[in-house]
Amino acid sequence: MAATEQELRQELVATARAMGSAGINQGTSGNLSARIPGGLLITPSGVPYDGMGPADLLAIGFDGQLLTTSEESGGGAPGRSLRPSSEWRLHADLLRCRPDVEAVLHCHSIQATALACHGRPIPPFHYMVVIAGGADIRCAPYATFGSQELSDLALEALRDRRACLLAHHGQVCLGGSLAQALRLAIEVETLAHMYLQALQLGEPPQLSLEEMGRVAERMAALHYGR
Ligand code: 13P
Ligand code: ZN
Repeated sequence: MAATEQELRQELVATARAMGSAGINQGTSGNLSARIPGGLLITPSGVPYDGMGPADLLAIGFDGQLLTTSEESGGGAPGRSLRPSSEWRLHADLLRCRPDVEAVLHCHSIQATALACHGRPIPPFHYMVVIAGGADIRCAPYATFGSQELSDLALEALRDRRACLLAHHGQVCLGGSLAQALRLAIEVETLAHMYLQALQLGEPPQLSLEEMGRVAERMAALHYGR
């Protein structure tokens, strides 16, 4: 991760833009955050990433209050008053409760969202599902965007996992860095795409929990995806 807050702001803007070029987000959907001392840096609400700069990111505490102790609390150029992402609770709660996480990414990628609209998890149909931390990628039940309820449900779906789907909404990925969170979100989108394709011929057979455990051990030994 970046050494200074300014470098982290630049990395966060670059990663947010990469969500668009990777085809996993568009318009003003999605949001991205990274841990800083005492809180997090988060994307502003309702701002397309093409026109967003490092000074537009907001530094907030885990209670959503703007941090004044950071190098630059954010909110954009004078006269451009920006608010933290409407999903700040989700980002703050995850970073507060998960010390293993440095970055949180949320997006409305098409294939993952299509599955989530059916409230379906991604089962162990392919060994790469293990990349998200376990034998499946859960789907959190629906709750209104930006609500505490959505944050609570997502935290539960992310127990022992680094990714989950959000019913009728999208996906959330966690990373030890912004780059890791982005790579995982692209992987989840690919797995959702493969699963939807496989479903064309009916529900595909699933790998056993024992085999998924073996895959997890092998990935850990190879530091796969790290
Ligand atoms: P924000 O623009 O407020 O971050 O909201 C986008 C979104 O995806 C809400 O779930
Ligand atoms: Zn959303």
